[in-house]
Amino acid sequence: MVSELKELGINLGYRCNFRCAHCSVIEDPRIKLSASEVNLLAKIIEGHKFRSLLFVGGEPTLYIDIANDILSKAGDLSRTSVRITTNGHFANSKCNAIKTLASFVKLDRVQLSYDKFHSKFLPLANIRNLFYACKALKKKFNVTTVLENPMDILLLEKIKRAGKFTVGIQKVLPIGRAKTNHINHPYPSLDQKVLRKHCPNRSKIMYFCGRGFSTCCSSLVFNSREKDMIHPTIERHLNSKFYKTAVLSNFGRFARKLGVSTKDLRPEHSAPCTLCEFLFNRARESQGAYNVRP
Ligand code: SF4
Ligand code: SF4
Repeated sequence: MVSELKELGINLGYRCNFRCAHCSVIEDPRIKLSASEVNLLAKIIEGHKFRSLLFVGGEPTLYIDIANDILSKAGDLSRTSVRITTNGHFANSKCNAIKTLASFVKLDRVQLSYDKFHSKFLPLANIRNLFYACKALKKKFNVTTVLENPMDILLLEKIKRAGKFTVGIQKVLPIGRAKTNHINHPYPSLDQKVLRKHCPNRSKIMYFCGRGFSTCCSSLVFNSREKDMIHPTIERHLNSKFYKTAVLSNFGRFARKLGVSTKDLRPEHSAPCTLCEFLFNRARESQGAYNVRP
């Protein structure tokens, strides 16, 4: 079963030097991976041979020593691609960007998160510096951005002019600070096709420092404290009621298993993770916990 998981994402710690209004991470910034978690993760990586590893935070470059500790103890990584999702704070010059990226024991891809919320903390020039630093170090580079309204297209054009790289577009979901600040992608109507979709993260697994393993990297983990979503081992997670129902079923089937009606769905439930959270909340409200039908 584990071999079906292509990627292990590792949350190194929750500290970040930016404070974006739409940030999903609202955990205690003092929490970071402990020495025993580092050893556990290194052993799991060595045993399972994931195709890729992803380091996230907070801001992962604030924890390079911890990432390197895991990478150095994880055995042969020659067939494993290692990437980070960063805010690019260190790329105030190409030279500084090279210095930071080169300090990872292994790093193959850099993904920069940049949008109007990040732009309050990071000049556009850093994107160009980071792009050229990756080019010099022969590392892959891409940008992910979120669009909240049509005006954001102007910033998207500026991002694209910073270099030759792909820009992935995501929709802002009401998670963490985005939820508190009422930042959300406006859907005009409910897209019924969402009921045929699955969890977008089902071929991956995340380790959240201080919490454990979960396929979920979104609304349920950050907005809810449901016990059955996070587990101390990957095997326990893959054998959980949560994984077997929420993750492996499509949302229409999952709603039926929970006994939750889909007639009250609203336009914002066109986003899989927002729908997923809605279904869990409804099940809890009506049953006191989420129970699935056989
Ligand atoms: S969105 Fe990313 S860069 Fe912004 S505060 Fe959150 S972790 Fe930091
Ligand atoms: S909220 Fe649901 S659909 Fe989204 S990543 Fe988590 S489990 Fe998957």
